Amino acid sequence: MNSNAIIDYLKNSLSENRFKHTMGVAKTASELARIYSADIEKANTAGLLHDCSKEKSIDEMLDIISKNGGAVDYISKKSSALLHGIAGAYFAKEIFYIDNEIFDAIRYHTTGKANMSLLTKIIYIADYIEPGRNFPGVDNIRKIAFSNLDEAIIKACSNVIIHTVNKGGAVHPDTVDALNYLLLNNRGAADEEIFI
Ligand code: FE
Ligand code: FE
Repeated sequence: MNSNAIIDYLKNSLSENRFKHTMGVAKTASELARIYSADIEKANTAGLLHDCSKEKSIDEMLDIISKNGGAVDYISKKSSALLHGIAGAYFAKEIFYIDNEIFDAIRYHTTGKANMSLLTKIIYIADYIEPGRNFPGVDNIRKIAFSNLDEAIIKACSNVIIHTVNKGGAVHPDTVDALNYLLLNNRGAADEEIFI
């Protein structure tokens, strides 16, 4: 995969801020891939392309998805924040011939999902902690991400769910699944404190 061609494309099609964020995600994803023995080149490519459709209109995104036979759930269809992961995966496949693993990492980078691959986990958390992010508590999750990937994702998914509920927004079930899967598999089903 020629990352220079991807970077040229992104530089011309994304706003300056989105481009900066994108480069931050690619860099963070590559660092995490090195630490967790994932494929560094794939992490870089997925990081570069994760937001490639974020600045398209909802109609454009829906077009890309339906043209490729993709499905849109009832929550994502109303939200450009959720649609851009699905549309981005199909768009990146169409233009840059990404493989299924990178497709999945882009597809689920916003929501997460149950039983994520290592690459999908890396892109999910890299998007959350790249150097341009500065919300309260990010430094702590950043530190955790480099020593315990699953624990960092548990914290990130929990924050996203709490933040969304506090805003009065709809929580995507894939994010709940991502959180529950990691809690049950990392902390053990016998720990009653993780059930509500
Ligand atoms: Fe995104
Ligand atoms: Fe992003």
